[in-house]
Amino acid sequence: MTRLEVDYLVVGSGAVGMAFADVLLQESNCSIVMIDRHHNPGGHWNDAYSFVRLHQPSEFYGVNSATLGRAGRETTGLNIGDLERASGSEILAYYEHVMQSFLETGRLRYFPMCDYVGDFENVHVFRSMTSGFEHSISVRNKIIDTTYLNTAVPSTHPPRYEIAAGVRCVSVNELPKIKNPPTGYCVVGAGKTGVDACLWLLENGVNPDSICWIMPRDAWYQNRANVQPGYESFLRSFGAIVNQLEAVGQSTSGRELLDRLNADEVLLRLDDSVEPEMYHGATISHSELATLRQIGHVVRMGRVQKIETHQIELDKGTVASDPGWLYVDCSASAVERRPSIPIFSGRKITPQFVRSVQPVFSAAFIAHIELTLDHEDEKNGVCTVVPVPDRPADWLVTFAVNMLNRHRWKDVAGLAQWIADSRLDGFSNLPQQVEPGHLENAELLKKFAAAIGPATQNITRLFDPVAVGD
Ligand SMILES: Cc1cc2nc3c(=O)[nH]c(=O)nc-3n(C[C@H](O)[C@H](O)[C@H](O)COP(=O)(O)OP(=O)(O)OC[C@H]3O[C@@H](n4cnc5c(N)ncnc54)[C@H](O)[C@@H]3O)c2cc1C
Repeated sequence: MTRLEVDYLVVGSGAVGMAFADVLLQESNCSIVMIDRHHNPGGHWNDAYSFVRLHQPSEFYGVNSATLGRAGRETTGLNIGDLERASGSEILAYYEHVMQSFLETGRLRYFPMCDYVGDFENVHVFRSMTSGFEHSISVRNKIIDTTYLNTAVPSTHPPRYEIAAGVRCVSVNELPKIKNPPTGYCVVGAGKTGVDACLWLLENGVNPDSICWIMPRDAWYQNRANVQPGYESFLRSFGAIVNQLEAVGQSTSGRELLDRLNADEVLLRLDDSVEPEMYHGATISHSELATLRQIGHVVRMGRVQKIETHQIELDKGTVASDPGWLYVDCSASAVERRPSIPIFSGRKITPQFVRSVQPVFSAAFIAHIELTLDHEDEKNGVCTVVPVPDRPADWLVTFAVNMLNRHRWKDVAGLAQWIADSRLDGFSNLPQQVEPGHLENAELLKKFAAAIGPATQNITRLFDPVAVGD
């Protein structure tokens, strides 16, 4: 067993560990040991299907100190003109490059293929998964546990339903390996991965009538057109923020709020006649929705219990199927809905969201707070955890905690500038980008200022479970 001594131990070299370590290296002289079970940095992106892409623009994903991609726009595919979204392989190449730059500082040591074993009287132990060799490490400052949110992808999480002998059910990762077309495809799951699988099949020439889509719950999606930072998109992106504030300020119930957000195209859904029961914060574009709407055979009968050769048993009944179908499992939930816990607790930091569904910005922010504020109470005071959303009513919860955090951040000297300078932030410096004399934009800024007060006042009323109707 070797004995190491270090300032910070980061468990996990996924997007969160990397964004956190980057700020520690950029903004302090500390030493870091980073360990991970994977053989390369990038976490779950190592296990993702080959056609995976970010669902947000690359422009504000990754680590603060290094840009991801060319900051260009999509030139092919369904979303021509949108800011580019990196593919899985681009993301992995990026993290490899970033890790190299970390190692070149001489202040970070990386131990891939290692499992964190535990903490014994402040000495942390991890074990090599290849050699079985154990390392013990004394941590002078803190351990950062990035494993709490527990991202799950289908290739590493087998389906929870029963599959009868003779039924072909594969993880979404297997789709590009298809050699002979089955009689049809049945996509199980309606989260981001299910959407990606359906789009991939349609883009690869599969007839929409040959697809059955099992949709346990319909989702509200964020309109990706509103998540396009940069001056060119100012009116659209900032306009959407104003729409959200106005909707929160003027709605009299949760029901009305969601209707308004839908009418303002903040939230989109696959079928306007179906009430979504899920909100995970995934983004989608109008062209993707139009493509998905070609699929007519959508099964809304809850979760799959069992797949047999001629039928599928679901929570709410049974539907007929074809023995020649290929089932594509997309049922893993990307981020586990664990209870929020204090981010700063003694000698442990547990990164979670401090901005709704923005894990990398949140990680960088928490690292900056670790380095700049002194006391644990102060640190937790500006890092209220934004819960991982699951149901439509959670949209309001995440919105409210976002507002609360933003409000508290204003009181911390230098923080507004740090956020504005952070490439992972994407949006905070939009108002500063307004050109003097641009009337339409100046008008929007006025509306923004006018909408904050009513939104803040009305939030409490909307939280009344009776009013929210949830
Ligand atoms: C298909 C898909 C698309 C997504 N698109 C976006 C997007 O566009 N924007 C966005 O913000 N988010 C997106 N996400 C969410 C995504 O979860 C985060 O962006 C981010 O990648 C999560 O990183 P993480 O570090 O929290 O988790 P992980 O990537 O899971 O990393 C955690 C790491 O910890 C390691 N680990 C766990 N336990 C141990 C242990 N005991 N010892 C050692 N190592 C351990 C694991 O091996 C892993 O590498 C997407 C998710 C999916 C599935």
